[in-house]
Amino acid sequence: MKNIAEKLIKWYEENKRELPWRSDPTPYHVWVSEIMLQQTRIEAVKKYYVTFMKELPTIESLAKVEEEKLLKLWEGLGYYSRARNLKKAAMLVQEKYKGKMPSSYQELLQLPGVGEYTAGAIASICFEEQVPAIDGNVLRVVARLTANSQDILLPQVKKQITNQVKQILPKQAGKFNQAMMELGETICIPKGNMKCNECPIKEYCQAYSKQLTNVIPFRNPKVKKKTEEKTVCLLYYQNEIAIRKREEKGLLQQMYEFPNIPQLESIASIEEQIQSWGLQLQNIQEIGKVSHVFTHRIWNMDCYIVKVKNKNTEFIWVNEQELMHKYALPTAFSKILQRKEEKNLCVIQKVYK
Ligand code: SF4
Repeated sequence: MKNIAEKLIKWYEENKRELPWRSDPTPYHVWVSEIMLQQTRIEAVKKYYVTFMKELPTIESLAKVEEEKLLKLWEGLGYYSRARNLKKAAMLVQEKYKGKMPSSYQELLQLPGVGEYTAGAIASICFEEQVPAIDGNVLRVVARLTANSQDILLPQVKKQITNQVKQILPKQAGKFNQAMMELGETICIPKGNMKCNECPIKEYCQAYSKQLTNVIPFRNPKVKKKTEEKTVCLLYYQNEIAIRKREEKGLLQQMYEFPNIPQLESIASIEEQIQSWGLQLQNIQEIGKVSHVFTHRIWNMDCYIVKVKNKNTEFIWVNEQELMHKYALPTAFSKILQRKEEKNLCVIQKVYK
């Protein structure tokens, strides 16, 4: 392990990818990009990052942004508490640190939404503090380098790997941390697709020499996700569609959704539901089933286009332009709109006089 730092940094300097946040790695840029990159692929993050920085170029602008606009900028990235925590942390930086990001690992850890990994990344990349930044990529690389066959998701294993990395951390900790992550993202990738032949540190890799690269990292079988069945109605009155705000707590809190009921329903019970919303039916078309997988649950949604003859005050009625530009609609629901477009000619199930 001790021999790898120098080789890895040299490889990183020669091979690192051009990424929008790497051209000007200020603490703000590194912070926002690292938060966006949690649970999200680099390719997906790039365009969000560019738009976000165009709209909110400073910590001050992030601290002042309205939540609706923030969620709109985050729409589709998922894990929306990340966006809310960014704003909370920006407000704290404004208040407590006069708008300048704190520079030490310990202070960074106090910011909402900033965990050990993000604090380590900002402190080492932007302030040259000699601290590790251990994400899933680094856990995987180190587990393979040391032929560690324990489950890397267990807290005690993470702690053990963090200690191993601390022992070999060079003065250029920021570059080393980035190099480890880059190796994990481009060469030492998951699920047996790694490119060991191109790896700059393969001579030090125990999994490689023992031919264990396909079995490490070991993962305990995943817990089965909970499945929820729903019926979702795209309610149209002329060219307006009904949406409503989700509750203040829980999954996708305070984002917008299409009216829905928490089980799969027959056409007859959908009719009853529409009436209970104070709406008069014109016709019902079936879109079909749409599923969305979250971290711990799966939604199976039976979706319908329901045209109605009047509006109610319980929902917000918007045209599609407004929906697109103003309201943050989670991917689970925007998928239904996409499906509707694909199935242009939905069969009309029932017409009402
Ligand atoms: S040799 Fe292969 S398994 Fe070992 S660190 Fe390099 S890419 Fe990963």
